[in-house]
Amino acid sequence: MYAAIAAARKDASVILLDKSLVGRGGATVMAQMTVAAAIGQQEPDDWKIHFADTIKAGRGLCDEELSALLCEDGPKRILEMEQWGTRWARENGHIKQEMAPGHSRRRCCYVDFLNTGPAVAATLRRKVGEINDIRRISNIAVIEIVTKDGRALGAVGLNLLDGELVTFQAKAVIVAAGGLTKLYARNSASANMGGEGYALALWAGAELVDMEFVQFFPIGHLAPRLVGMDPIMWDPFRYKLGGKLLNGQFEEFVDRYGGTDFGRYTATRDLASYSILKEVEAGRGSPHGGVYLDFRHIPEVQLRAAFGPVIDRLLLNGIDLTNTPVEVGPMAHYHMGGVRVNANMETRIKGLFAAGEVVGGANGANRLSGNAITEALVFGERAGSSAAEAVKHTQVDWNSELTGVALERVRALKNRRSNGGVPPVALQAELQNLMWEKAGPFRTGEKLAVALARIQQMQRDDLPNASVTDETWYNLDLQDWFELRAMLATAETLVGSALARNESRGAHQREDFPDANESLLKNQVIELRNGEILSRWTAPVQLNRRDESHG
Ligand SMILES: Cc1cc2nc3c(=O)[nH]c(=O)nc-3n(C[C@H](O)[C@H](O)[C@H](O)COP(=O)(O)OP(=O)(O)OC[C@H]3O[C@@H](n4cnc5c(N)ncnc54)[C@H](O)[C@@H]3O)c2cc1C
Repeated sequence: MYAAIAAARKDASVILLDKSLVGRGGATVMAQMTVAAAIGQQEPDDWKIHFADTIKAGRGLCDEELSALLCEDGPKRILEMEQWGTRWARENGHIKQEMAPGHSRRRCCYVDFLNTGPAVAATLRRKVGEINDIRRISNIAVIEIVTKDGRALGAVGLNLLDGELVTFQAKAVIVAAGGLTKLYARNSASANMGGEGYALALWAGAELVDMEFVQFFPIGHLAPRLVGMDPIMWDPFRYKLGGKLLNGQFEEFVDRYGGTDFGRYTATRDLASYSILKEVEAGRGSPHGGVYLDFRHIPEVQLRAAFGPVIDRLLLNGIDLTNTPVEVGPMAHYHMGGVRVNANMETRIKGLFAAGEVVGGANGANRLSGNAITEALVFGERAGSSAAEAVKHTQVDWNSELTGVALERVRALKNRRSNGGVPPVALQAELQNLMWEKAGPFRTGEKLAVALARIQQMQRDDLPNASVTDETWYNLDLQDWFELRAMLATAETLVGSALARNESRGAHQREDFPDANESLLKNQVIELRNGEILSRWTAPVQLNRRDESHG
């Protein structure tokens, strides 16, 4: 949405397509915590300090140009969002900013109570709605980006309501389709996070970078059932209130793995994930395969003082923290890798841009809390304005043949029907379990090789024979089939990259290579050539474009 606004601001005419209702799908609407930006209202700060923190978390693999852009433009975007109506929490007349792990300053803004992402999305939806040059079209799943001679020329979409294919001609295309955490059985994802954007960009000829780096959040919500709330919301609770992490036998356990948590959970994310998974492996997990997070020792008045209305929303979900510990465990939460772009957000395909979580590189091997929404806003703005500039100088002699070839290819895929095969949704579930078991938080070469072989077999045998019914209206098989096709392509790049990175670094943890290997202080770049995935290692992009002028 930010990309659309920025492009329209530069006089471009924009079509904004979404698989769900525009502005209601994906991660942003679900994100309830904070947005990091060095606005320096809580305490003195500078984008260069935020940049240094981001680079440190990225363990040497950040694309420093992208990280610098994120940190330098973050404050402008946060303040612009406020002008457009986002009510950041305020204190004594200034925007209130909190500390979060890995940040060396209090720089995380939020909207009370746990309402950050929904408020950001609402502001952008409103803004988009005010601009005549943005045409919003919901319920279109983009299934192919049309290219010719190394240039993006539009897209083919599947109308989810009637199953018809629709073509869009455009002088520039921006992929802003979010992350890939739905590839995992345990995830914090909401709708449409199957990683389709990565596959679309790869098929169109763009490169992907560092696909192996998936961030797993240690205490995602497992049980009791929680509806309409962010499954990773327990972090602010435990920071503020000091929850205890207990195994299935109600014992504290992190000290068995080198932690020092007694009476209060303070372990780092990697140690917490590791100890939880090891307790579960040892048969000491909670009923839903995680551990307990316990706030029963905190008086209700203290819970209410810290989280007010959220306590009531939990009660509506049947969760009374004064007498119920919740079950939590690691889950796939964010993806650091993604589409390889330059600082204008352009891929190597002319006219093909990317923005948001689908972009790889800004956060290297691990992401700081709060950097992802900033990334979506900053990269959205940059992608939209760059694309609008680019189309001013682009002449394309439109004719229907340009999209016709792509349309025919997709039509052939759509028209293949097979009854009696496995439904695509069942294959998606198998893929999710496979990814969780074999390419999850702690990986080995052996497990990854099994995953890769099965993914390739699914692409070769199961996908073409999957069962898709003939229904016209809202044919879920058809939607799931195209989603599965993209999920498999993205999963293949992720697992292949994880297999090649024989080291542990940041979020990529290999039990068979527990240490970082300095010779792998490189980015892994993926491309598709004649249907084959090729990968190569490149030196990370360093920031040297701006030293004097920025002191
Ligand atoms: C539960 C949760 C909590 C989080 N909390 C925080 C937080 O507190 N702070 C923070 O900084 N980050 C947080 N993150 C991460 C952050 O929210 C995301 O990285 C960011 O919002 C991504 O924005 P985006 O615009 O790139 O993608 P999204 O917001 O995911 O939007 C992508 C859009 O693309 C659409 N789409 C996908 N595929 C297609 C297709 N094929 N065709 C058409 N449309 C398609 C989707 O429907 C969706 O509308 C959280 C993430 C989750 C899941």
